[in-house]
Amino acid sequence: METLDRATAKLLYEHYRKHRDGIRNKPEMASICLICASIQVIPKVGDPHMLVCRNCNFAFYRYECSACGATVDGRDPLNPGCAVCGLRVCTCGACGCPTEDSL
Ligand SMILES: [Zn+2]
Ligand SMILES: [Zn+2]
Ligand SMILES: [Zn+2]
Repeated sequence: METLDRATAKLLYEHYRKHRDGIRNKPEMASICLICASIQVIPKVGDPHMLVCRNCNFAFYRYECSACGATVDGRDPLNPGCAVCGLRVCTCGACGCPTEDSL
């Protein structure tokens, strides 16, 4: 991924802070903190599903859905949390729970 310059990051931050649906579909948002607009976002140690901001320590879910491959982002309202497994629910309906056809 290309490194973001601060101006671009700021514009994306301003936009997605107000329009959170769509964050999951924007690759650049993996490296922008929605709390402090920092681009110092790194993988969270010990949790492959999360990223963490080095500036403000805000951690958020962002990972690939194991069922369909789409990006899941905990900041996106279309990826709500699952009360059972604690992961986020993909737009395809999958989360960390075992999938059952009967559901
Ligand atoms: Zn931050
Ligand atoms: Zn999915
Ligand atoms: Zn679940």
